[in-house]
Amino acid sequence: MFNQVNEDIKFFIQDKIRENITKIKMGRTSWNFRCPICGDSHKNRRMKRGWYYIATDSYHCFNAGCPANGSVSGVELVAFITSSTPAAVKSEFFKSLRKNPHLVDQYKRAQEKLFVQMEEEAKRKKEMSEIPAELQDSWVPLPEDIAKIVKDRKIMSAPNLPKNGFELFFDTEDNRIVIPWRRAGELVFWQGRAVRDGQQPKYKGAVDRDKDVFNYDNIDEDFQYVFCLEGALDAVWVKNGVAVGGVTLTDKQVDLLSKKLCTPVIMLDNNWVDSAAREELEKICKNHIKQKVFIWPRGIVEKDVNEYVINQKDNLFFSDSKFLESRVFNGARALMEMKLTK
Ligand SMILES: [Zn+2]
Repeated sequence: MFNQVNEDIKFFIQDKIRENITKIKMGRTSWNFRCPICGDSHKNRRMKRGWYYIATDSYHCFNAGCPANGSVSGVELVAFITSSTPAAVKSEFFKSLRKNPHLVDQYKRAQEKLFVQMEEEAKRKKEMSEIPAELQDSWVPLPEDIAKIVKDRKIMSAPNLPKNGFELFFDTEDNRIVIPWRRAGELVFWQGRAVRDGQQPKYKGAVDRDKDVFNYDNIDEDFQYVFCLEGALDAVWVKNGVAVGGVTLTDKQVDLLSKKLCTPVIMLDNNWVDSAAREELEKICKNHIKQKVFIWPRGIVEKDVNEYVINQKDNLFFSDSKFLESRVFNGARALMEMKLTK
């Protein structure tokens, strides 16, 4: 397994070495530094007997008494320098490992676990590297309290999550959950979702970027409609739900959606609860009489789809095609359904 360390892992290992070890002499094929495993020479503080070899991702210490005298893998070195175990204990462990082959299996399992963690972190780093540099500093993995909000809202088990990877970040400057939008694997747009009640607006899109269509690759053309919601964290609950980052479609979005067989339907928050949503719908129905819109049935008290799903056992918005189709209207008929006409 460790003979086939992939390039991402290798970069990750090298990052960890750079982060944790000072005064590295970097050559093209190897890096030389004071050995962190044995502590290197105590008499000569300038002695550097640790060598990390880039091509083989292996580490060797030329101090004869060192547990790493005889190569260890880059993963082992990183496990050593990054875990919180005191160095002396770890050094003993390495020594006993060499003397007690029966410990090796146990150690390999621990290593494999670490390897999986590293693979995940390397993947995340790679994804982060697609994000514009000026934003990377403020985007972090979800802090505990925010992860709890996401968990309470059951987002990660939503039935219409993008299939090719879905990961959330937190923007520490803006105090919002960041949802990257990908289409055909590319990061095309992102949206920040408010985390506190009263934090306005609910969704905020990337500045200086053309709005794209979130969840475009998930559209099922066997279904008659594609529901266009404002926000990604609502769209993931709806059959053929996509997010468009607003209440109308841009030219680019119209163009993208026209390549699919489904008819676009604007779906806003509950028009019986949210007066702003009702006003928007009214505007659309009056000014674009052919534009299909979704009118919520009377009797639902939740303000949006996510709240509805948390409170109800069945998710009509995903599982009941007939329900969805029965609530699609346009023009005067839609206004009537909203009881806006006299
Ligand atoms: Zn050493």
